[in-house]
Amino acid sequence: MSDITFIFDNQFTTTFSGDEVSDNYPRQVMSAYSFVEPTATKMPQLIATSARVAEQLGLTEEQVNSAEFLTLFSGNRLLEGMKPFAMCYGGHQFGHWAGQLGDGRAINLTEVRTQSHGHKTLQLKGAGPTPYSRTADGLAVLRSSIREFLCSEAMFHLGIATTRALSLSLTGDSVIRDMFYDGHAKAEPGAVVCRVSSSFIRFGSFQLPASRQDLALLTQLVDYVIARDFPHLGAPSPGVYLAWFTEVCDRTCSLVVDWMRVGFVHGVMNTDNMSIIGETIDYGPYGWIDNFDLNWTPNTTDAQGKRYRFGAQGEMAQWNLFQLANAIFPLIDDAEPLQKALNDFAKNYQQQWQQMMAAKLGIELSGELADEAELSLFVEVEDILMSVETDMTIFYRRLADLPDDESLWLTHLNPCFYDEAEMSTSYQETLHNWLERYSKLRDRGNRSRQSISESMNATNPKYVLRNYLAQQAIELAEKQDYSLLHQLQQVLAKPYDEQPEFENFAGKRPAWAKDKAGCSMLSCSS
Ligand code: AMP
Ligand code: MG
Repeated sequence: MSDITFIFDNQFTTTFSGDEVSDNYPRQVMSAYSFVEPTATKMPQLIATSARVAEQLGLTEEQVNSAEFLTLFSGNRLLEGMKPFAMCYGGHQFGHWAGQLGDGRAINLTEVRTQSHGHKTLQLKGAGPTPYSRTADGLAVLRSSIREFLCSEAMFHLGIATTRALSLSLTGDSVIRDMFYDGHAKAEPGAVVCRVSSSFIRFGSFQLPASRQDLALLTQLVDYVIARDFPHLGAPSPGVYLAWFTEVCDRTCSLVVDWMRVGFVHGVMNTDNMSIIGETIDYGPYGWIDNFDLNWTPNTTDAQGKRYRFGAQGEMAQWNLFQLANAIFPLIDDAEPLQKALNDFAKNYQQQWQQMMAAKLGIELSGELADEAELSLFVEVEDILMSVETDMTIFYRRLADLPDDESLWLTHLNPCFYDEAEMSTSYQETLHNWLERYSKLRDRGNRSRQSISESMNATNPKYVLRNYLAQQAIELAEKQDYSLLHQLQQVLAKPYDEQPEFENFAGKRPAWAKDKAGCSMLSCSS
């Protein structure tokens, strides 16, 4: 008898015909998915759960703490009605078409219907090989699973669209990884995260059938996604396809502007890592900005070209949308409106970026778009933040309570600078001059300083998942100490609140973390 029950809603596998081969070995698959079961693990152990996600799925605390929960969400058991599957998709990786990729280490347990949160897919990441594993093992290590778990929690509480994580379990098996691809492979603890989203379909899901000239599957996929996740658009037609593409552009635009607002660098914006519903997906070698640097990328694999650097994320999103437009072109058969949607993306991105900057700075824009004075303030603040190492998160929080007395400005902002020796007289003058112009613009209108400061603090988080904090949580967890993991989960649940008891998590990156692996640079190895 099973205590945990769901209302199954397996639309994907009932809508599409699956792979005819049922054996689990790497291969090219011409269908949308393959049935495949998770691999049993040696000694599963639950180390973190999200109460909020459990609640959305209708699971009680007692159920979450049950032995059954652990066996289910570590891939050691299936409920009757679950028919796990891995999805087939392709993608452009670092600008190059890579052909078929697919869920190489993700297995969808099932799709369920929830009471008040619509349909959700429950997906295990790291539960063993699938037909899409190519030469890899289908497994995930503890460090990358902690990073996925914590970051999707952090993102959600920041109010940014993201896949969620229900649980994080150790598997009890070890996984061999060569973290920096330099011949130093070692055994690491294996782990499984249960991810949850309304849709795990990616841009690359459409690109693959398009690349194979499989118009039937391509059309079926688009119709499916519209009916399931964009039902307000109505019955399929070329006009609806275009409206859908436009909405995907809009969602992607808001998502990336949100990333820029909080200093999140995805690190691997390949088209297979772009969610069709506009969520942050596939937390790999991502990073959070400590010192503001538009050229920074956390991903060592991308260290040369820096394709996915912080400041390029808007452009990269547009590049990816262009690939999606190419893929769905046969359904619309008219390049002009697709091109227009892509051009509008650039315009909307500019506008939303300006609005985001205004909100960060507590300025009310004079119009829909920034005027010259406003725009120069936004552009210059980036130059100023780049010219000496300045902590982005601390800077904006300190700015919210900038003293009225000009002589105190520099001392007030002092906690956000990494190296005082960098602060030349001319730098100080530039900063002072900017702050003077800034405070004039900020004080236009009749909002109180307090209300301005409150709105800034609701835009600029105090707590983000700083790379070194995640790394510390990982190092402790690797010694079976999960206290920091749980503490971070707690503090990141209220990222805009002061939480004085957690002040130590709001400080600058310590000097030891500046060039440490895991803190400033990460590889795709996970
Ligand atoms: P990523 O860019 O990390 O999202 O992964 C690119 C592709 O590699 C996807 O198809 C993944 O499923 C696959 N992949 C990544 N890691 C593994 C692994 N350990 N085993 C099997 N497939 C993997
Ligand atoms: Mg991926």
